[in-house]
Amino acid sequence: MKMHDIVVIGAGPAGLTAGIFAVRRSMDVIVLGDPTSMSTMEEATIVDDWLGAPGTMGPQLMQKFREHAKRLGVPVRQEKGVEIRKNGRGFIVKSDKAEYEAKTVIVATGAKHRKAMVKGEEEFVGKGVSYCANCEGPMFRGKKVAVIGGGDTAATYALLLEQMGCDTTLVHRRDELRAVDVYRKELKKSKVRFVWNAVLKEIKGDRMVKSIVVQDVKTKDMKELPMDGVFVAIGSVPASELVKNIGAKTNESGFIMVDRKQMTSVPGVFAAGDCSDNCTKRIVTASAEGSVATEMAFEFIRARELEKQ
Ligand code: NAP
Repeated sequence: MKMHDIVVIGAGPAGLTAGIFAVRRSMDVIVLGDPTSMSTMEEATIVDDWLGAPGTMGPQLMQKFREHAKRLGVPVRQEKGVEIRKNGRGFIVKSDKAEYEAKTVIVATGAKHRKAMVKGEEEFVGKGVSYCANCEGPMFRGKKVAVIGGGDTAATYALLLEQMGCDTTLVHRRDELRAVDVYRKELKKSKVRFVWNAVLKEIKGDRMVKSIVVQDVKTKDMKELPMDGVFVAIGSVPASELVKNIGAKTNESGFIMVDRKQMTSVPGVFAAGDCSDNCTKRIVTASAEGSVATEMAFEFIRARELEKQ
């Protein structure tokens, strides 16, 4: 089996940046991109905090990242990384199609949507329950939708759905949004309605969603609101299962613990982007972590080679 310098698992902003920096260092790199999963950036609506490209839509920026990586010759394979195991001083990375031997591994697997864990959520996925306003919002034009959550994702989903012509209600468990000021101001100007201090209790319907049941956290009163769609935007959980069998440490929330060099507790295994405990869940941070991980993998390999001499 050919020995690669780095196998990067994940082809979002962190993984592709890691790949670009590796190619620029003339390192032998493979980037594995799971064709069945989408980077959260692709689901983002407007990206206003990527330098030089204000107002860009998430999917378009992600497409530009892919084109950039392709143009620089980053070998991205449409494969899902399924296992990492130690192999002497290096690693074997298994994908759903092949096995790769590598001196170092960069895990850039991102995060998955947090589920609301209420009755009806699972049953109505694809029948009115969604986690991506960009992807499924257009189906709800002229219909009633609820966005659950109070962070930047919920705020951008609500704004986008309203722009798409949906009758939009934002349901948040507190009386204040966590989202940044700029989104709060835009929401104030918009037609989006708010249900404050309310938690989602149930999603009801027959073949499709028909209503949601919310509970007031203070009075405990239950209210049923007619809805055609429910967009759950209550944060994310890290996709960190892959590192568990090699013993890399994760924090209490499951994020992969890394040092300032993006190295995990397993020497030679790095983590970058939304799956790491360092990342602020911004595209710029994920991308920066990807670049640091590659530079540090380069140093790691060089140090090992010097040891041998
Ligand atoms: P987040 O910032 O973690 O916010 C999650 C929201 O969901 C919070 O308002 C939280 O309520 C609420 N929540 C969590 N668990 C809940 C539950 N079980 N039931 C009801 N509500 C629940 O997640 P996010 O909005 O997905 O953002 C993730 C990161 O990506 C953030 O750092 C964000 O800034 C970034 N992001 C940036 C942009 C951008 O445009 N730059 C866009 C999207 C995301 P509490 O407020 O009460 O905790």
